[in-house]
Amino acid sequence: MNPHKNIYFIDMLSGLHQSPIISNLKTLSVIIGTISPISPIQPQIILRRNFISPMAEESLRRSLAEKQSTIEARGNAIRELKSSGASKSEIDDAVKALNALKLEKTSIENQLKASISSSGGGDTNDAFRQAVVNTLERRLFFIPSFKIYRGVAGLYDYGPPGCAVKSNVLAFWRQHFVLEEDMLEVDCPCVTPEVVLKASGHVDKFTDLMVKDEKTGNCYRADHLLKDYCKEKLENDLSISADKAAELKHVLAILDDLSGEQLGAKLKEYGIVAPDTKNPLSDPYPFNLMFQTQIGPSGASTGYMRPETAQGIFVNFKDLYYYNGNKLPFAAAQIGQAFRNEISPRQGLLRVREFTLAEIEHFVDPDDKSHPKYSEVANLKFLMFPRGEQLSGQSAKRLSLGEAVSEGIVNNQTLAYFIGRVYLFLTRLGINEERLRFRQHLPNEMAHYAADCWDAEIESSYGWIECVGIADRSAYDLRAHTDKSGAQLVAQEKFAAPKEVEKLVITPVKKELGLAFKGSQKMVVEALEAMNEKEAMDMKAALETKGEVDFKVCTLEKTVTIKKSMVSISKEKKKEHQRVFTPSVIEPSFGIGRIIYCLYEHSFYMRPSKAGDEQLNVFRFPPLVAPIKCSVFPLVQNQQYEEVAKQISRSLTAAGISNKKDITGTSIGKRYARTDELGVPFAVTVDSTSSVTIRERDSKDQIRVNVDEVAAVIKEVSEGRCTWADILQKYPAHTSASADDEN
Ligand code: AMP
Repeated sequence: MNPHKNIYFIDMLSGLHQSPIISNLKTLSVIIGTISPISPIQPQIILRRNFISPMAEESLRRSLAEKQSTIEARGNAIRELKSSGASKSEIDDAVKALNALKLEKTSIENQLKASISSSGGGDTNDAFRQAVVNTLERRLFFIPSFKIYRGVAGLYDYGPPGCAVKSNVLAFWRQHFVLEEDMLEVDCPCVTPEVVLKASGHVDKFTDLMVKDEKTGNCYRADHLLKDYCKEKLENDLSISADKAAELKHVLAILDDLSGEQLGAKLKEYGIVAPDTKNPLSDPYPFNLMFQTQIGPSGASTGYMRPETAQGIFVNFKDLYYYNGNKLPFAAAQIGQAFRNEISPRQGLLRVREFTLAEIEHFVDPDDKSHPKYSEVANLKFLMFPRGEQLSGQSAKRLSLGEAVSEGIVNNQTLAYFIGRVYLFLTRLGINEERLRFRQHLPNEMAHYAADCWDAEIESSYGWIECVGIADRSAYDLRAHTDKSGAQLVAQEKFAAPKEVEKLVITPVKKELGLAFKGSQKMVVEALEAMNEKEAMDMKAALETKGEVDFKVCTLEKTVTIKKSMVSISKEKKKEHQRVFTPSVIEPSFGIGRIIYCLYEHSFYMRPSKAGDEQLNVFRFPPLVAPIKCSVFPLVQNQQYEEVAKQISRSLTAAGISNKKDITGTSIGKRYARTDELGVPFAVTVDSTSSVTIRERDSKDQIRVNVDEVAAVIKEVSEGRCTWADILQKYPAHTSASADDEN
């Protein structure tokens, strides 16, 4: 969260890896002349007017979480004092201190409630998010990093349940992609030498435009300030004319295409100043998002913390291709940390400065993008948001992948196959399929070399968030590294018999081009060499008739004049024994932290306690991702029951099922509530030495099972080999009115 703003809105990031050329083509945030919050293209706008600063609110939430854990610890300490026979005065003092703490907690809760209810009149999204985030932070799913030193924006730790959820998500990712698709997994360093990121375009183009408060030096993203200004005016200033409103909407629509100079001019025209100090702002300038470092002590070798994991795979292409028996297609995968020095991270866990990426690079023959397992996904039907629907203001629609491919909406089978696999992955994790859509990139979001790109977007309280990018990047990355390193990152197709082929030969005349274009010569040469057959033959014809021709060089973002003396284009016949080509790459790129956060929101709900006096929090995680699969409680504190609980816990552990015993004397209802709040799907309660009950978290149904069968039953149901409904059929229901389920 940015402490300096009182308006929040969605801005989904699509980084340079999708678009090194058009570096600031961040995702469409507001589109084509409308800012209606229900516009299908536009992410939902969340307005939030806080009368205390978000920083103060954040700190209230933290104090509340701290107070809650101190209270729990003190409660346990008092129980221990009692059971160890401590003196009455000692116990009374401890209880008094505990009550004082409870009062302090209530006071913080009241302040927090007041700040929430003053936040724009019951914004349910916000209140829901607060509830989720409070629970996550209190139960240590995540912890703001370096909290005791007041933390650092955009850096978060995963606490114990958070680590368990993450490791379950990653284990399933490996199962679903690496194992089931026979991918080659690699693990490359985070520290990356400059040359690699120079070749990929990150050193020059992985930038956001930044402005500085001229007096304090505070930094802001220039596009965010302009966006905030336009939205604020449109939402809150009823005095602006219809013309002005149309102008502001237009600015929002073209925001992502504005150059630094254009952005600066708009900031000046609208009199936009630093939001917190009202000081004047500098002109916008590009800020590279990579963390720079030195490799080795001499300072001679510059390095960067990688902004994505993909480059590690590209630079290893040759060895991986060999490892795969020199055969295409094949995919390589990597899970690892990525680092982006975001200018002003302000979407909590969604936009952070260090995060886990899981990336796949599927290398394929550009002339054959069919996929052998395409038929397995072709009938899947889910929400897709093709370009045409976005541009014509319609909403996302349910389409089968088969239809999307046959109608040419999705470019090719392999891209469609991965879209389908990503859909299955996310929904099996517990993402609500009604709140998941695949949005196609608009032409201005895509790099010029990309064939087609789709984002898996998940709806959260922040709006629709890009969580997985799935892009057909053609041969761009391997070509870039071939050019820079000189290593031939290519594949071969051997012909059964030699073939006579007609080859297009484009020979740029470097001397002439150098004289005409000086520093830009290299980019013009590359663009000429990258022409396809039709473009080259059209140019040849034009040069022969007119002597010169206009030629658009995307990397220069301008059109130049090519003269006949600058390039020779011909077709030559040759006998070839093999075809050598640069493979295309299809890249699904998963932001693991974003997926997990959305999963938290989709899994969270509240229900009243049995007495109806409290709202209890529950995460309905599927067993696959639940941080702990089963809790084990003796119904009452009694040595025999505790022994049985220990025995069950040991057998669960031996079966590989994560479990947690709770042998505190707290009421069983409270113990259920505690584990429901961690999303533990099953609870075993020991109420006899021969058989016990198993309770399912969401239905609260209970069954009775013999002690020696418990581990097998929990294993089956938590590993998805049977459902809870199957278990209910098999075992007697436990319907005791013994108040052993108080919540
Ligand atoms: P990109 O390379 O920009 O397309 O990013 C790939 C994926 O990384 C996105 O789909 C997001 O899920 C995730 N991602 C990008 N930037 C961030 C960030 N600052 N914090 C968390 N996740 C991010």
